[in-house]
Amino acid sequence: MFFKKTFPGGIHPPTYKNLTQNYPLEEIPSPQKVVLPLIQHSGSPAEPLVKPEEVVSMGQKIASSDKYISAPIHASISGKVSKIDYFNHPILGKSLAIFIEDTGVHPDFIPFTKENPENLSPPELKKIIQEAGIVGLGGAGFPTHVKLSSPKPIDTLILNAAECEPYLTCDERLLQEKPIEVFKGLEIIIKIISPKSVFIGIEDNKKELIKTIEENLHKLGLNKIKTFILKTKYPQGGEKQLIKAITGRIVPSGGLPFDVGTLVHNVGTVFAVYEAVYLGKPLYERIITISGKAIKKRGNFKVKMGTLLSDIVEYCGGFIKEPKKIIFGGPMMGIAQWSLDTPIIKGTSGVLFLTDEELNLENSTACIRCGKCIEVCPMQIMPASIGLAGEYNKWNIAKEYSPLDCIECGACSYICPTRRDLVQFIKLAKQFTR
Ligand code: SF4
Ligand code: SF4
Repeated sequence: MFFKKTFPGGIHPPTYKNLTQNYPLEEIPSPQKVVLPLIQHSGSPAEPLVKPEEVVSMGQKIASSDKYISAPIHASISGKVSKIDYFNHPILGKSLAIFIEDTGVHPDFIPFTKENPENLSPPELKKIIQEAGIVGLGGAGFPTHVKLSSPKPIDTLILNAAECEPYLTCDERLLQEKPIEVFKGLEIIIKIISPKSVFIGIEDNKKELIKTIEENLHKLGLNKIKTFILKTKYPQGGEKQLIKAITGRIVPSGGLPFDVGTLVHNVGTVFAVYEAVYLGKPLYERIITISGKAIKKRGNFKVKMGTLLSDIVEYCGGFIKEPKKIIFGGPMMGIAQWSLDTPIIKGTSGVLFLTDEELNLENSTACIRCGKCIEVCPMQIMPASIGLAGEYNKWNIAKEYSPLDCIECGACSYICPTRRDLVQFIKLAKQFTR
């Protein structure tokens, strides 16, 4: 075990993890209807393999693409395809989606593979991961089979158990309750990429979980996997920050973790790999955190992809008070939603229903050049300068400050005493300077 590593910059927002971290995992019953967007991942959208009126079973592949950077979509309930149409998408606004309605017939789930994992080669394991539609469940949604096919040699694998976003505790609960399954998933990834070193990165505020990790690594004889206890600091779980803290390696500007021989996977993704390979179960459900002080029942829930927010709110007993903001993901990097008619997708790590007390709603004023945003930026760029250039549409000036290196963590906006919405300006600068 190694202690108290970190990265330069960063902030210490209140974590609000106590709202959900001690609640055991619970399952939200399958809804009557799911809406499954054809794009739930980075890359090309999937194409429908089914037509309206067709009967489908839970776990059946209903959309796929022949493009390499894509991921198939599977039915999350058994029923009838009622239509294929445009619908609300939590990230894209609107997208084409497959609607499935429960018809009351629930055939047994049929595993899509029944092979013994011990006998499978790395390419066969990768194929199962691809067929299961697994993508990064931390939010980015990058197809896992592509990440496992690095164009450069990988010598270091990191399990990202930092979960640094405030409020979110789904990975913490999953690893606390299913450590054996997560470590079996990790062993599959180890078999595929054969790294020299394997690390687990976790923040020092998860004391009980650190104990669970150590006990279970020992129980499984995985003594070569080393746990790094990291300082609790946002965004400790950012891939580049985690790599810097644990290995000292710096991912170059415009580069990816494989450029420094490293691969990072989060807990939910590794658990999905376990379920696909050992149980033949494609990715049609996941664990999400439901939190915020506006919702009656909070916790960490197993939920079917395509479940609408309205069904989740109903299961959670409705609102204590009207939420001022609904966010998919965490408060720092999440995306605000405008409708409860929005489906959970593969990259949804949580849904927050926040009251006005939980939000800082002060109006933005002019920059006072205090430099705080520069101090906290984990990518060591100049948010204030990009923000100013962006405000006056001076994109050629903004470009000089490397906006493409921004990981959109929101630390600069959080710390700014004049409440400048720096991340929005930087996102625009990225679009105009790409
Ligand atoms: S500039 Fe980007 S990386 Fe730096 S603090 Fe702001 S959002 Fe984070
Ligand atoms: S933190 Fe805000 S006020 Fe201070 S330099 Fe940055 S943008 Fe300006």
